[in-house]
Amino acid sequence: IPLNLKEFCQYIIDSFRINLIPSHQLIFNSQGNFEQGLWDENLLRHILNNLLGNAIKYSPEGGKIRVDLIEKGERVILSVEDQGIGIPLEDQQKLFKPFFRANNVENIAGTGLGLAIVQRCVETHGGQIEVKSQVGEGTTFIVTLPFIWEE
Ligand code: ATP
Ligand code: MG
Repeated sequence: IPLNLKEFCQYIIDSFRINLIPSHQLIFNSQGNFEQGLWDENLLRHILNNLLGNAIKYSPEGGKIRVDLIEKGERVILSVEDQGIGIPLEDQQKLFKPFFRANNVENIAGTGLGLAIVQRCVETHGGQIEVKSQVGEGTTFIVTLPFIWEE
């Protein structure tokens, strides 16, 4: 459906701000023109909710979480960056497998399904997802999606 991706991201981020977590600082930046894109709202909601939920869950109170949305012609890059516990290098390629959890989660609860669902949603939308992370420093998930315009 036609959707302004920037407004949609803003809306999801605002609902996290208001309802869920005054404990973290959420920063949103966008660059480009997001009018007249065709997007699947449900897939986008899964992607953003899971990535933001993880960023919050795996980072300390008061931590900064930064969401960047960049339009690059035929592509859109959506990244979510946190200053949390990070992910050990040897685990980074396994995160998208159902039920996988990294060995540094300690007592943080989870089932290990969120990222498997995110990867499915990203691929269903014709995109890709990658992760950059350093233990103790933070994590960035980078989602690249094709930008399809409404004719
Ligand atoms: P849930 O199914 O409730 O989302 P989960 O958060 O454990 O459970 P995923 O969202 O699939 O599952 O994430 C898989 C694993 O990847 C997590 O258990 C954690 O080890 C790691 N992980 C994901 N996001 C982050 C992050 N932002 N910072 C650090 N580790 C992360
Ligand atoms: Mg999760």
